[in-house]
Amino acid sequence: MIEYEDLGKLNEPFFEDFTHSFHKTLSSGWYILGDNVKAFEQEFAEYTGSKYCIGLASGLDALVLALKAFNFLPNAEVIVASNTYIATILAIINAGHKPILVEPDLATYNIDPERISEKINHQTKAIMVTHLYGKVGEMDKIAAICKQHDLKLIEDCAQAHGATFKGEMAGTFGDFGAFSFYPTKNLGALGDAGALTTNKETLCNLIKALRNYGSSAKYHNDYIGFNSRLDEVQAGFLSIKLVKLAQITQHKRTLAQSYLENLKADFILPQVHPDYFDVYHIFNIRHPKRDELKQYLLAHDIKTEIHYPIPPHQQKGYLNIFKRESYPIAEEIHQTTLSLPISFAHQTSEIERVIEVMNRF
Ligand SMILES: *Cc1c(COP(=O)(O)O)cnc(C)c1O
Repeated sequence: MIEYEDLGKLNEPFFEDFTHSFHKTLSSGWYILGDNVKAFEQEFAEYTGSKYCIGLASGLDALVLALKAFNFLPNAEVIVASNTYIATILAIINAGHKPILVEPDLATYNIDPERISEKINHQTKAIMVTHLYGKVGEMDKIAAICKQHDLKLIEDCAQAHGATFKGEMAGTFGDFGAFSFYPTKNLGALGDAGALTTNKETLCNLIKALRNYGSSAKYHNDYIGFNSRLDEVQAGFLSIKLVKLAQITQHKRTLAQSYLENLKADFILPQVHPDYFDVYHIFNIRHPKRDELKQYLLAHDIKTEIHYPIPPHQQKGYLNIFKRESYPIAEEIHQTTLSLPISFAHQTSEIERVIEVMNRF
């Protein structure tokens, strides 16, 4: 069986270092906001080329806190892609604001800059760009729109650690880059974890207070805050894995190259363009008979996933928010997309097997 994901196997090369780090943290007696978190924040800021990084409890929290930092009035409108993962939209709702969906570009699966302006009005306060599947959005055009309309720009980088557009890193284009270190992400912890990156010191200090009960000095609460702290154990693991992130990314890009060069033309493949350094958190193809293809692959011992089967505006819990709005491009993607195995734990020979079976479909 070729698994879609095997996190035990993926983390095996790190077991020894993880164990050592865990024991060190255990005996330190300091488990929240200590040296490990400080060190990881500095290392990750350096990695992304941001001035500051603030460790948080999850990617969702990173998105919520980024919005909270701006103190928009309730029901402010925030623009977001209609095909993003639910967390980006949930963050807007949890922060007390209104998600305004904009269709993606079918070539990149990212928010279509040409469709943004028509959704902007005096209630619009921010744009959240998800760098979906590991490809950065068209940030030059989007940053220009934000500047023109005085909007805040938040990047959802949960799938894009180390991805670049025109030589610039995900997480450095906007006011904030929001990262998730959920175990399956390209940089994954052994539990929940997240972070924000920013170049602005005032925003960094505000997020540091917000994650810790709105407090900058012990028992002094300057803001209505949250409890959203990255913990010492996870930070220790993340520092170990960050050193290997370039290698993890390179491995995934090599596997992606194999798919791109060898899959037959029946499948719609991800776009490759010299402006982008894609990190392939997900390698998706599209095919009109997606469900049949998934079954066929499973019958040949190959597991796949769908990112995602139901678009956000059709999710049961969200029907009251999006009423009967229709997003045909998002719907088309959700009906035809299939994610193929591509991880640090997969070998080239396994990907060759997937290609061979797929080309017989
Ligand atoms: C994983 C993910 C998130 C949420 O991250 P968590 O750490 O699970 O809260 C947000 N946005 C996108 C695009 C994601 O893939």
